[in-house]
Amino acid sequence: MNEFELIRQYFSPKSKAVLGVGDDAAIISPRHDLFISKDLLISGRHFPKNTPAQAIGHKALAVNLSDMAAMGARPRWALLGLALPEVRKPWLQEFSKGFFTLAERFGVDLIGGDTTRGELMISVTILGEADKTQALRRDAAQAGDDIWLSGEIGWAGLGLRAQFGEISLSSHDADRAIQALNYPEPQIALSQNITHIAHAAIDVSDGLLADIGHVVSASAKAQHQHLQAHLQFEAIPLPNPLQHALAIGVDAVSALSFGDDYQLCFFASPQQRNNIAAIAQTLNIRLSRIGQLREVDSAASPLLLTKNGVEISTSCFGFDHFA
Ligand code: ADP
Ligand code: MG
Repeated sequence: MNEFELIRQYFSPKSKAVLGVGDDAAIISPRHDLFISKDLLISGRHFPKNTPAQAIGHKALAVNLSDMAAMGARPRWALLGLALPEVRKPWLQEFSKGFFTLAERFGVDLIGGDTTRGELMISVTILGEADKTQALRRDAAQAGDDIWLSGEIGWAGLGLRAQFGEISLSSHDADRAIQALNYPEPQIALSQNITHIAHAAIDVSDGLLADIGHVVSASAKAQHQHLQAHLQFEAIPLPNPLQHALAIGVDAVSALSFGDDYQLCFFASPQQRNNIAAIAQTLNIRLSRIGQLREVDSAASPLLLTKNGVEISTSCFGFDHFA
């Protein structure tokens, strides 16, 4: 199979764009402001080498959809860059199944890409639409805002550690953890419901503490204030097995630094509490109020984590590829 047959067979969906896959460039007609983001996934670095192809296809798109959720944009179009060590039909079939199942669920149109031989690597570019006034920018959190989190964090991190044999889980928990790691669910519906309610949002990809840190520093800089996120450990929903791990000595800061969950963390005025509770009920999801953003004097650290009122040090957290 040559490159063009491969593209035609696996990556040429019917498209609603003005011009989709097949020409030198695609053509789209956006009606609003465009939101654009890209992620690069490398085998052995962003997913274990033995990850099923369907999961890779899902995750490559899901992490980009999650970025659209974090911005308050509706995802519309995607471009797929693919480096493959070899052409294996069953692999391509599974990969494209994972990709397109998710794309169809969220109405995303694959309109182009590039395919080449090389170490397995997937890069998706996503384009979404929204009015720029609705953007959930990370530099727009306000002093006094509540900090909210969807779902539970830690499942994907547990899945990764279970796969490498670093921890042992019951088979039921292991299934759930591996599912969270391989098939993250982008929080698009939640995001679309909070564009008029939240000031700022971020998706939890690097780890909760690191990602909240990004919002605090961006907002502090934009508003020329000293800001601090005060998080209450006991308010942060953790998976049961992670709570057990805490009981046997895993420290709280590590538990809050597992990445890859793609839950949504957002900042909103306390006046929105009733609206947010109603959204959680309508969407049938868990939303937890885990802390508050406040103005502090210049000496205070951007993050304060307390457990039953006692401060826990958060000097080292999150994931940095170059650390
Ligand atoms: P060019 O040589 O002009 O870069 P290519 O031969 O790389 O074009 O690609 C042919 C067409 O197939 C283009 O429309 C391109 O966007 C599309 N394409 C290539 N790879 C992919 C892919 N993995 N997924 C979707 N579309 C792809
Ligand atoms: Mg090309």
